[in-house]
Parts: sequence; C-alpha cells; structure tokens
Amino acid sequence: MVRRRVALALAVALVSLSAAVLAQETATERDAGRGVLEKIDVLERSLDVPNIVSRLTGPNDSRDRVVARAKELMDKELLTMADDIATHPEIGFEEKRTVQKLTDYLKQHDFDVQIGVAGLPTAFVAKYKRSSGAPTLGVILEYDALRGTRGPFHGDQHSAQGPVGMAAAIAVAEGLSQTQTPGSVVVYGTPGEEIMPPNAKTVMHQAHVFDGADIIVRSHSMSTTSRPRAGFGSCCRNTVGARYTFAGAPAILSAGWNGRNALEAVIHFFENVDSVRSSIRPEALIQGVIVEGGTTPGVVPDRTVADFSIRYPDEVYLQQVVEFVDNAAKAAALSTGTKVKIDHDGKELDGVSVATLNELAFAYLKKFGATNVLPAPGHPEGFEETGSVSRDIPGASIAAQSSTAPHHTYEMDADNLTNVGHRGFTIDAETMAAILFDFATHADYRGAVKKEFDGVKSLFGEYQSALKKAYQTPVVPDPK
Ligand SMILES: [Zn+2]
Repeated sequence: MVRRRVALALAVALVSLSAAVLAQETATERDAGRGVLEKIDVLERSLDVPNIVSRLTGPNDSRDRVVARAKELMDKELLTMADDIATHPEIGFEEKRTVQKLTDYLKQHDFDVQIGVAGLPTAFVAKYKRSSGAPTLGVILEYDALRGTRGPFHGDQHSAQGPVGMAAAIAVAEGLSQTQTPGSVVVYGTPGEEIMPPNAKTVMHQAHVFDGADIIVRSHSMSTTSRPRAGFGSCCRNTVGARYTFAGAPAILSAGWNGRNALEAVIHFFENVDSVRSSIRPEALIQGVIVEGGTTPGVVPDRTVADFSIRYPDEVYLQQVVEFVDNAAKAAALSTGTKVKIDHDGKELDGVSVATLNELAFAYLKKFGATNVLPAPGHPEGFEETGSVSRDIPGASIAAQSSTAPHHTYEMDADNLTNVGHRGFTIDAETMAAILFDFATHADYRGAVKKEFDGVKSLFGEYQSALKKAYQTPVVPDPK
C-alpha cells in the first residue's frame, strides 16, 4: 500500500496548463509594461543598431585573421576535445576531468589559471598573460552533463562550450597581443548549469569573480539560429528551486498511531498543490519530484524530501505562486502532525539583453554560414540562466544551430559528434571571436553597448513596479 502510494506520488506530473514561454508575453505583462516597452523602443531607435551592424560586419582584415585563428583552433584540436568531453560526460559539480582538460589547454596558451574559485571546486578563472588594459573581455565556459536514467549524457551540448569559448578567447587574446591593442581576456569556468543548489554563476558573481568584465559571451546549443530582442527576460521563465523536507516520527507500521508519517505529508503536499491550480495563473509551471520517500514499508517513514521547480514568466507574480506552494507544504505538515522545512535554494530570473550585441552576433552567425535561421528576434533574455550576471554586465549567448533535435535529448547528444554539431560549434567560435574583437577595437561601439545596457537596465525597476500594481491579491475577509 505504502509502496503503491509512493509510486503514485512519483508519477504525479505537475505540469502547467499553458505553453506560453515568452517574457512580456502574457497580456498582463504587456499591459503593465507598455510604458516601459515604449521607452525601450525609443532607446533602440536612437541607437540605429542596423547601421552599427552593417558598419562592423564590413571588410576588416584584422578581424578576419582573428576569426580564422578561432576556426583553425577548432579544426585542429578543439573539435576533437569537444568530442572527447561529449563521450566522457560528468554531471554538475563533478566535472573534474573536463576542468582538467580545459585548464591544461588554457595554460598551454598562456593563460594563468585558478581552479576552485568562489568555494566551488570545479569553477575556475583563467586570465591571458600577454595582454592587459581595458576593456576586459569575458568568456563563460560551461561543461556539466545532464543526469539521466542511462547515466550522465551531454544532451544539452555543454560538452562543446569549453572548446568553443577557448577558441574565441585564445584567438582574440593573441590578436590583441600581436597588434598591441589594449584589452584583457578572462575565461570563467562555471560548473553545474543544469542543477541547483547552488546557482554557480550567482555564487561566483556574489564572490566578485566577474567584477571588471565589460562584456561576457558564451555559446549554447540550439536547434535554430536565432537571437533575443532587447529588454528583460529569461530563457525558461523566472524560476525558484525549492526543497521541502518533512520530519515525522518512526513507529512500527502495525501501530502507526505511535508515529507521525512524513510520507503521508509529502503525498498531501502534492495533492494540495494540484487542488489550488484554478487559483493560480495558467502560465505557471509547478513541477515536483519526491527525492526521498522512506526506506521500508515496515516502519512509519519519518523523513521525506520533495524538490520543486516553480516557474512563472515574471518574478513578481512568481512570488505569489511560491507562496501557494509553500502553504501547500505547511498545510500538509499541519494535517499530518509532521514538520516541514522549506529551502528556496536557487533562483533563475530575468536578465537584460541588448540588441547592439545580439544583432551583431546574429549578423556574424549568418555571415559564417549558420543554418535554420529564424528571421524575427525572439523574446528578450539574459545571456546566462540565473539573471544575476546578465543584469549587471552586458553580454550575449551565441547560438548557431548545432543540432536538429530539441534540448535535453539523446538525439541532441548524438549531434555532438556529427556535422551539424561540429559546424554549429565552429560558427559559434568564429562569431564570439568577431564580436569580442569588434568590442575591443571600437570605442564608439563599446559606448553604444553601454548606453543601451544602462538604458534598458534603468527601466527594470519601473517594469517591476508596474507588475506589482497589476498583480493585486483579492481581499479575503475574516469569517464571521
Ligand atoms: Zn544548457
């Protein structure tokens, strides 16, 4: 019986009723944010991004040499390394072999390497020794594999991000050094993108690892070639990762009234969440799994644990959703005589995206031959998933098509080793090298990026205030 109930609870798939995935895509967000979105439009028009892009992507021998060097590194050594990492997958915070490979290569190419930054053993920072001064160009490398029932696998192609980012960083660093152009190149190794806690990038940011970077780029797998529009947003809705730990008291099953059943509590918790869905806006995604459900049917389980991912398109209403889920857990504990501990142990929130970087990257992606190109810009999103770094430092996530399959699949993993993967990774490296080079060598371009980033960022508070007004909670009177 108990076992059957565990199986049932584990099988409860708590999914949203809606597939809306875009920030500022709900009618409420669009209405509340109208004034802010108009101000972003005015800012964009004042920058004349198409003109900037056509100027920078024109003929430029020095840039072409840097791009060619990035391609050469990919062709000669780094695609082989990407294949090797893809076939030796390591899950988040256990990426020791991968970090060794990446940092060895960086050392061979004149980078000073520090492994184990911000208290994370598989996080690292590497600085190029032969160039210095402003601006500081940052490149984020990710390398964790997904956890799967068949073992770790690189179904999100993070295996290639290290080699791609290194090709761009080395090519640009060498180019600046050879031409005695000022500019520093820093590579950040950020572990565990796929799991929290902790949010590695947030932890590293709070430890001031990214301080001083004027721009940060990274690559990521995609089945299309696209770019976000300017504004605030997140790839995958704003998210709170939460852990609910229930404590009961053990007793022999035949006299269960002498104990308090933590398994009954966690099952109630899931039922409570499901029972209030009609009171929650349909764009919410609330998904939970029971990671500890007891050890034996002979004893009343005195400890259970459920992990939840709670998502909403914006972080303002997300707080209300989180409160519903927390209260569902508290109610379950109250009704079963158990206790619950709630940890909100990770957040992924809106970042800032800027057209000056994303449109330039998109133009280079096309120029270098990226495939399956989506003509219209997508919703705004920060260049990294936590929103912490991408709120403070301008950047871009570079994504040429590198697979024909959706994210987090065995098919995308297989594409790591095929032509579509190799071609996409090489174009990513060339594009990253090109935009970093342009950023380092054009002061007016840096000024435009900064103006846009500061302008968009300054409107974020106004947007959130407007949302707070839009999401009023109903007045519930005391019962008489
Ligand atoms: Zn990923």
